[in-house]
Amino acid sequence: MYAPMSVTSHATKFAAPRTDAAGRIALIGLTLPEMTAVMEGHGLPKFRAKQVWHWIYNRGVTDFEAMGNLPKDMRALLTEKYSVERPTLVTEQRSTDGTIKWLLAMADGQQIEVVFIPETDRGTLCISSQVGCTLTCRFCHTGTQPLVRNLGPHEILQQIMYARDVLGEWPKVNEKADQHKGRDVTNIVLMGMGEPLYNYDNVAKAMKICMDEEGLGISKRRITLSTSGVVPQIIQCGEELNVNLAISLHAPNDELRGEIMPINNKYPLKELLNAVRNYPGLSTVRRVTFEYVMLKDINDSDDHARELIRLLRDIPCKVNLIPFNPWPNSPYECSDRTRITMFASLLENAEIDAPVRKTRGQDILAACGQLKSESVRQKTQQQ
Ligand code: SAH
Ligand code: SF4
Repeated sequence: MYAPMSVTSHATKFAAPRTDAAGRIALIGLTLPEMTAVMEGHGLPKFRAKQVWHWIYNRGVTDFEAMGNLPKDMRALLTEKYSVERPTLVTEQRSTDGTIKWLLAMADGQQIEVVFIPETDRGTLCISSQVGCTLTCRFCHTGTQPLVRNLGPHEILQQIMYARDVLGEWPKVNEKADQHKGRDVTNIVLMGMGEPLYNYDNVAKAMKICMDEEGLGISKRRITLSTSGVVPQIIQCGEELNVNLAISLHAPNDELRGEIMPINNKYPLKELLNAVRNYPGLSTVRRVTFEYVMLKDINDSDDHARELIRLLRDIPCKVNLIPFNPWPNSPYECSDRTRITMFASLLENAEIDAPVRKTRGQDILAACGQLKSESVRQKTQQQ
């Protein structure tokens, strides 16, 4: 039987490097007490850590030399031992619909994708949690690529900070935070490459800094974590982070879900939905999102819709119907438009909101389930 390894052994085996090629430690991703301990280790007083923290998270500074209120010798010492830099840009693609996809290289050369989706009332940044994925959902292209490694807390945060750099979101020196233009990145979704709950510790550390008012200041109500259903970490995430939850459901019964999402054999629907029901703070105003990819003749019949309604009846939720995005040699096709509309109206008639997700950035392969594919293909072509 399929048995994904435990999250703990996973964390060790696929650990992210914390140092760059020059052996410098990333300061981004350390908690304030950790950063204070680092400074104290060099004989520096506590308030220096606060200053550095402010430069990093409130001003977006990527060079210790620009931290004007630090003594010169201290800046030199920090530059030698630590880094506050960003990943490097490999490619940027802009879709005709305004979506931007960045392929970024980490300090060790591993690459991940980040997608910015502007809408009229918000700007959503879709970030990655792992390079590749250990899970093998059959409809997902990321799932055909073996997990290379977890991303560290710094690498998760750097994706958001990178987007702020490009979109010009950091307040200028002498400009008060409240004088600054509105933010472009208002919402974060952990829906890029990887299974965030298989990298829970690093994701949690990064999200705590992201939510911290003194950190990146993005509230938990504007962060959504999407998971294929790693039950123990859903519970932990509810207790510790309580960000919005999205569940990749994709099938209304164990038999079908087990076939297309092997993780269902470890955490079947009953357990999964119990964890969801008990997720703290769920209410009709704060609902869980179920993602449901529309696969032609696989999970899209009227009977499937009725089964889904019975399954979700007592959970405050909405069902996001995602038209299947094909990738080279994918084993499925997307359901027809009329089928999707029919499926949606059955759910709506049962008073379950069922918006059809607009496909964004498809011309640049930035849509759900397509991430990483193009970059792998390009690499193969270069070889
Ligand atoms: N690993 C997490 C986060 C990825 S989120 C998870 O599975 O939830 C990406 C979303 O896109 C998930 O709901 C995933 O199931 C969905 N998806 C994957 N492949 C897809 C495809 N080819 N077309 C449309 N959606 C897809
Ligand atoms: Fe991994 Fe999510 Fe893709 Fe499944 S859908 S293979 S969990 S990224």
